[in-house]
Amino acid sequence: MNDGALVRRIVIVGGGTAGWMAAAALARFAGEGRRIVLVESEAIGTVGVGEATIPPILEFNHQLGIDENEFLRETNATFKLGIEFTGWVDGSDKYFHQFGQIGRPLNGIPLYQCWLKHRSNPRVGPLSAYSMSATAAYEHRFAHPAQDPGSPLSQIAYAYHFDATAYGRFLRRYAERLGVERIEGKIVGADQDAATGFVTAVNLDDDRRVRGDLFIDCSGFRSLLLGQKLGVEFEDWSHWLPCDRAIAVPTEPDETLFPYTRAIAQDCGWQWRIPLQHRTGNGHVYSSAHISTEDAEKVLIDSLGGKTIAAPNRLSFKAGRRSKMWEANVIAIGLSSGFLEPLESTSIHLIQHGIQKLLSLFPGRGISSVERDEYNRQMQEVFEDVRDFIILHYKATRRDDSDFWDYCRTMDVPDSLATKLDLWRAKGRVFRQGRELFATASWVAVLLGQGIVPEEQEPAADAMDSAFISNAMDQMRLSYRRTAEQMPSHADFIARNCAAA
Ligand SMILES: Cc1cc2nc3c(=O)[nH]c(=O)nc-3n(C[C@H](O)[C@H](O)[C@H](O)COP(=O)(O)OP(=O)(O)OC[C@H]3O[C@@H](n4cnc5c(N)ncnc54)[C@H](O)[C@@H]3O)c2cc1C
Repeated sequence: MNDGALVRRIVIVGGGTAGWMAAAALARFAGEGRRIVLVESEAIGTVGVGEATIPPILEFNHQLGIDENEFLRETNATFKLGIEFTGWVDGSDKYFHQFGQIGRPLNGIPLYQCWLKHRSNPRVGPLSAYSMSATAAYEHRFAHPAQDPGSPLSQIAYAYHFDATAYGRFLRRYAERLGVERIEGKIVGADQDAATGFVTAVNLDDDRRVRGDLFIDCSGFRSLLLGQKLGVEFEDWSHWLPCDRAIAVPTEPDETLFPYTRAIAQDCGWQWRIPLQHRTGNGHVYSSAHISTEDAEKVLIDSLGGKTIAAPNRLSFKAGRRSKMWEANVIAIGLSSGFLEPLESTSIHLIQHGIQKLLSLFPGRGISSVERDEYNRQMQEVFEDVRDFIILHYKATRRDDSDFWDYCRTMDVPDSLATKLDLWRAKGRVFRQGRELFATASWVAVLLGQGIVPEEQEPAADAMDSAFISNAMDQMRLSYRRTAEQMPSHADFIARNCAAA
């Protein structure tokens, strides 16, 4: 359909996290007079992983009008204040990528610049001591951000760990209440208009045909419509992100409900540990060119320290993205559009981003090439930002204890990342380009955490009185610590407000 007729029938292909997030948001915001149908196959199932998120997920749920406590109960969720990275620099290190700011600026100078100047003073401590989120995380505490901008608690920022399959079910109920129709069935083909190249229907294995004006391809790694039917190329980024396999296995919940994700570097990849209310998620992400599946599974199982509650789930993937995410009348959202490994928990965010961009460029009558091209441009931008941020963790290592780390340490990086690194190395400057997802505070936490210390500081930080900086930093650190000590424990907060049945 590119004849100027109203886009009425929207078909969502796939009912994983991407499919149901899209269904819920489109049902709520795509306007009156549309019919939304979602086709999924229980026999095929979903990818079945995806537990950690980043703070913008709050905005997505809020826009849908979802009650936070109900959502947390239904998805067995916990709170996440950031990610602790272990062993990424030399095998014995630890740092924290906090959500939210690093301290408050002093006389307009970013706090991290003052920290750089004074870090040799033993009182100063790690950078994480200047973050409300990191301080609370290490105390295993949680509270919502305060409204009063003067309160240290106003600086806390958070996301969730949740069961993504349960989130899909939760959103399915939401979407069906708003009139989304679900069709169970296996798609075996699609019809295309010979003149326009537009997809007109998907065909099911029992000969049913589901017609549509617009198709949202949420079919996972298969990329049924965008990749297979329309042949949009996959841009392979595995030379920058060589991990291409994962093994996931849940264990019984940990005794301490820590409010952060753990990312522990291994010889040929890394391992996640994610606390949910009813289980702890564990997974080993690794490069199949450097370790066999059997050995990777052994690394994971040997390190668990808790009783497994399901069989290991082995997954294969390739880092990269489709060169266009919107082609003809098909928009791919979720794994069908590309994948960047879960190190910074960005996949569910990329789904959210795709849905929000689609809504802001949603077709009315026919499909406008201007809107489609803008969508592709914006999605390309966000995928590349996330790509660069993830590559940074691998590139900025001193590890030389395996072929995998040798490869990562010595590989070339994209020009966009190389420029960022040069600017940082000179005087510790970070510039956020356009609509970049990760804020300066995130880049700084990872750059410094990975041991890249600038050659000089910002000259303005040198010009400030040392005693003033030192006192102000002492007070800031103490205020975060005292505030954290008054917060409820993460476990108590959940028990009081949102414990699953
Ligand atoms: C190892 C690993 C760890 C991850 N960890 C995280 C994380 O911590 N945080 C995060 O944000 N993301 C994470 N992700 C990504 C996250 O899992 C996905 O982004 C998310 O689950 C969305 O998946 P999806 O809906 O695109 O695909 P899927 O879950 O695969 O869903 C595809 C849907 O399409 C349907 N389908 C496919 N073919 C057909 C057909 N022929 N006929 C009918 N239906 C069909 C399937 O039945 C299914 O309903 C991780 C991914 C991996 C691989």
